[in-house]
Amino acid sequence: MSSTLDHVLYQALNERRERNLYRQCRVLSSPQGPQVEINGRTMLSFCSNDYLGLANDARIIQRFKDAADEMGVGSGAAHLVNGHNYYHQALEEALAEFTNRPRALLFSTGYMANMGVIASVLNKQDAVFEDKWNHASLIDGGLLSGARFQRYLHKDLENLNQRLLKTQANQKMIVTDGVFSMDGDCADLPRLANTAKKHNAWLMVDDAHGFGVLGDNGAGLCEAQNVSGDDVPILMATLGKGLGTAGAFVAGSEALIEYLTNFARPYIYTTAMPAAVAAATLTSLQIVKEDAERRIHLQSLISQFRQGARQLGFELMNSSTPIQPIIVGEADQALLMTEALNKKGIHVAAIRPPTVPEGTSRLRVTLSASHSEAHVNQLLQALEDIQYLNQ
Ligand code: PMP
Repeated sequence: MSSTLDHVLYQALNERRERNLYRQCRVLSSPQGPQVEINGRTMLSFCSNDYLGLANDARIIQRFKDAADEMGVGSGAAHLVNGHNYYHQALEEALAEFTNRPRALLFSTGYMANMGVIASVLNKQDAVFEDKWNHASLIDGGLLSGARFQRYLHKDLENLNQRLLKTQANQKMIVTDGVFSMDGDCADLPRLANTAKKHNAWLMVDDAHGFGVLGDNGAGLCEAQNVSGDDVPILMATLGKGLGTAGAFVAGSEALIEYLTNFARPYIYTTAMPAAVAAATLTSLQIVKEDAERRIHLQSLISQFRQGARQLGFELMNSSTPIQPIIVGEADQALLMTEALNKKGIHVAAIRPPTVPEGTSRLRVTLSASHSEAHVNQLLQALEDIQYLNQ
């Protein structure tokens, strides 16, 4: 007799639980912010990607409400059918201008944007070269494309170079995170762009964690490293992190955007994001451009945290971004430490395999411009109190 579906599923779940890798959602009953309410308890939060503290900004909320009054809640259809609203169009134009590219195209999520680009641009005759620590959505896009799929060693351009030299593929695409989501370090875009040009390959950068946060004007890692649309012909970024709303976009040439509009299935076959989200994002973009103070404050919190955590003897990554992981090692130890922090009213996520390699489980501390110096001191104090667990 064959096992029931639930039985088979529980076997896999139990195995995860035994290895301390089981995952579960926590239910928040408050907006994002330095403090969140979980199960009726107020906790200081250091695990959101709301890096600029815009997810609960009164001006953005008001714009969202006004646009919902004006345009309703649901967009009603996919962009190409009947769902592309005036606000979507305005946001695409604003994003193209901000990133200094001819065109931009909205996607409902970053995951879909990455799948859509890679799987539509490449096919079986092609090859894709991805940094080993790229986000899951980039890896999945590469696999879905059917192109010859290779992962080069993290930020190792020599390893990438050797792989490119050996390939016989028709077209080649190099794909990298801008800011690596679990380590917080940055790709070297000028060198990657040179490598891409030397091998006649296309370069795609996912700037989910850099957009809004890096660069003097917040235009992201490309601005911070001074690379142009010619160097990075395919730029993707999300709107649910630094910009505090939801969704994502791809920016590039007229041809790229027209191609994606016609061939990227995760763009074509899904309902457009609500127009009110696009309108709210326009306000958020304006704040990002005008309010450099948020980025300056964030940088000073990053320095404060790094200095304090180092003094306590914690192992940090080589990161100057708001993603500041503390490497712990084994999954059970990471859980033990987050639970101890929890008891002290601090909410930090334990990141475990398969998201990160075995033996590198970590506390993924993320900082936000909504934090104050005092909040970071509270975190450091709590880390000092639980330091004895970090053996
Ligand atoms: N790329 C990176 C680097 C990410 O970290 C994420 C989200 N964690 C995504 C893409 C997916 O974006 P979204 O959440 O909008 O689907």
